[in-house]
Amino acid sequence: MIRVSGELNADLHSHSTVSDGTLAPTELVRRAAQQGVELFALTDHDEVGGIAEAARCAAALGLPFVAGVEVSVTWHGRTVHVVGLDIDAEDQALRAGLAQVRSGRTARAREMARQLALAGIDGAFEGALKYVGNPDLISRTHFARHLVERGVCADTREVFGRYLVEGKPGYVPHRWAELAQAVRWIVGAGGIAVVAHPGRYKLGEAELGQLLAEFRDAGGAALEVVTSNHGAHEVRQFADLALQFGLAASRGSDFHGPGESHAELGRIDVLPYRLDPVWDRLR
Ligand code: AMP
Ligand code: MN
Ligand code: MN
Ligand code: MN
Repeated sequence: MIRVSGELNADLHSHSTVSDGTLAPTELVRRAAQQGVELFALTDHDEVGGIAEAARCAAALGLPFVAGVEVSVTWHGRTVHVVGLDIDAEDQALRAGLAQVRSGRTARAREMARQLALAGIDGAFEGALKYVGNPDLISRTHFARHLVERGVCADTREVFGRYLVEGKPGYVPHRWAELAQAVRWIVGAGGIAVVAHPGRYKLGEAELGQLLAEFRDAGGAALEVVTSNHGAHEVRQFADLALQFGLAASRGSDFHGPGESHAELGRIDVLPYRLDPVWDRLR
């Protein structure tokens, strides 16, 4: 059977215990293979510490693997995520940049816990730490899991809505990397920069255009058109934008763990046929 490249079951966005996922890199790669993923990327937040383990496991299973990362960026006061694909995880400038991005997380988490205590929830820092696999990378997700365990909320989505987003008691604004800087780290490490889950940013048309133009001018090359939180309308909208801005298209579940994510590994829409799949540009 002839297969069109765009139909490949590529899943190029996922998280392990090295950031805020619940599966270790090896378990995640095994699950991807079991789910029928044909090309897989690990893209932990601000961290490449899981790449070597994931790559070894993928090689043993014969699953084509792409080394990745998801860099936290602050763009005009908003948090935007930029995925880097096919990076050299040993690149020194990238590693130093990511270390700098990670460095504010612990102080931020302590401040989150202080504010949650004022809202009547004590001990959240220690509680969240129990869920952390990498002491360098404490995230809002770990707080959310702890608050669910304590019965404060029914699920992590409710925790975010009530406590962890802008305007809520446990939200602490944070300054992440600059957009152009994040793209430079990725491109400098031989990678391809991708704007992750554009449907999450709640940007108007003009702002989205501005973001994509700045991103492309900085050397960014792709847009995540298919991801678990995009419905059919968003897939169409971002497919159009990818074409309009001359960006390749990526596809990734943003899987964080069984039972917690919007979608299972690899179980997301196929890329619309008219797009240029980012995997045609991989080395
Ligand atoms: P942080 O990098 O510490 O700000 O945490 C960001 C992470 O929180 C994201 O990568 C998601 O895994 C998770 N997250 C953000 N918003 C939500 C939400 N509304 N519901 C569930 N998880 C969320
Ligand atoms: Mn996450
Ligand atoms: Mn993200
Ligand atoms: Mn992600």
